[in-house]
Amino acid sequence: MNEIRKENVKGLKPIATTKDWKLLYFQHGRPGLEESISYKGLCSHCEIRDICSIVKPKTGIWRCRYYQARTTQKTNLYENVIKQLDHTVEAIHFDKDICEILARTMNELVVHFPVRMDDGRVKVLTGYRVQHNNALGPFKGGLRFHPMVDIDEVRALATLMTWKTALVNIPFGGAKGGIQLDPADFTPEELERITRRFTFALGNNIGPEYDIPAPDVNTNPQIMAWILDTYLSTVPPHDRQACVHVVTGKPIESGGSLGRDKATGQGVVFTIEEWAKDNDYELRGATYMIQGFGNVGSWAARLMKQHGSKLIAVEDISGAISNPDGIDPDNLVEYASKNKGLISGYPKAKPIDRKTLLQTQADLFIPAALENQITADTAPLLNVKVVAEGANGPTDPDGDRVLEQRGIDVIPDILCNAGGVIVSYFEWLQNKRSELWDLNEVDGKLHRKIVNAYERVRNTAKKYGADWRTAAYIVALSRMETVYKERGIFP
Ligand code: NAD
Repeated sequence: MNEIRKENVKGLKPIATTKDWKLLYFQHGRPGLEESISYKGLCSHCEIRDICSIVKPKTGIWRCRYYQARTTQKTNLYENVIKQLDHTVEAIHFDKDICEILARTMNELVVHFPVRMDDGRVKVLTGYRVQHNNALGPFKGGLRFHPMVDIDEVRALATLMTWKTALVNIPFGGAKGGIQLDPADFTPEELERITRRFTFALGNNIGPEYDIPAPDVNTNPQIMAWILDTYLSTVPPHDRQACVHVVTGKPIESGGSLGRDKATGQGVVFTIEEWAKDNDYELRGATYMIQGFGNVGSWAARLMKQHGSKLIAVEDISGAISNPDGIDPDNLVEYASKNKGLISGYPKAKPIDRKTLLQTQADLFIPAALENQITADTAPLLNVKVVAEGANGPTDPDGDRVLEQRGIDVIPDILCNAGGVIVSYFEWLQNKRSELWDLNEVDGKLHRKIVNAYERVRNTAKKYGADWRTAAYIVALSRMETVYKERGIFP
């Protein structure tokens, strides 16, 4: 075993931004698919092991495996979503039969599909599409590429989509899907083949009037363009133009909508504006921190800048950074774009560990990464006035209780991050009508929809004396209940 200092390890920079790496022991390097090096010493990233494993996948990002696993540990999001459903049902004496229907997903598809890798080997991957409910319109929901994707996570996210579309009053149901993989383990060419083969495996289980995917974690407009192209290749030539709305979040040139890239972050900021008005809170000069600096987090940050608010701490998969004098979101986006999308090593902020980030005194916290981040363990650490949930399911029920006891407001996910699906609906409409709306039109319509939903949640919270998450569920579920009662149960 060779004893080495971290500075001697080529390529270690992103992961070595934490201050607590001690003298470490080189354990092994495995060339080929990935190189992996284990170190002895306390890793302030994962905070759980004295031996930490850092992995460099084919495409070359060093990261800490245990950190990734720890921060995405399953406390079963699906259980949390059903718990919240039960809680809401009790609060409003909701119809028990309809609750039985909504507590289950309608259709669940698991596909195992082979894809040829660049080195000629074949890898079999697992993909999911879960359709929770389509009483209000076609199934709608994102596709996530992540190692922790499994059937329960997809069930939970599909269910949240049903509540979200019902809450913001758009004619869609709820679905979600994904592939269990880490995109960093694959080349762009392999990712394209994976995406296309997955789309082919889904076959007619998706469709422009039936089930419409969109981007989510680790998927983007390019991936949507591959899905579109693959799907269109499977329909007769004369039907192709009529099927462009099979997927939303497409690149503009391929039928995407202006404003869809920033839509979720824009919706987050619109809801924060409403919260600030309600609470007489000045956003100019207000401080905030963000977890997750991808599509949602980075857009929310850039749009908060327009209010003169100050970003003082950020975390992503590569680590956390802070600067009490402020981090310029545009500059950080530029830096990340040249650093494989990661914030680590950003020279105008200092690296901090995750716990320090959570303890940072700020006005707002925008979780915009993954689920189950605010829990009984982490909620007591937060020193903020409001949590604006850009991510889906970032707070578990225990975390919710702690936040409530501590008087920290929550703008719940199904309201706060609904901007994405709202503008996806606009994209779908534009495709169907062969229209192109300008950005002002998209933003104006988004603003009206989300403010309207915000007001309904606020009024419902007052009427029932409920917390905001329960109020949002009440609005959504009441709409579902009305529809089921009007239509009855066949036969
Ligand atoms: P993204 O892939 O663009 O970005 C995810 C970000 O989270 C990245 O910066 C990544 O480094 C970071 N991250 C991942 N794991 C982390 C960890 N363990 N700790 C800290 N940071 C971590 O994804 P996105 O589209 O921005 O989605 C983020 C969240 O917002 C998800 O919960 C998603 O479901 C939700 N959401 C997205 C949209 C959308 O339109 N993209 C819409 C509604 C909700």
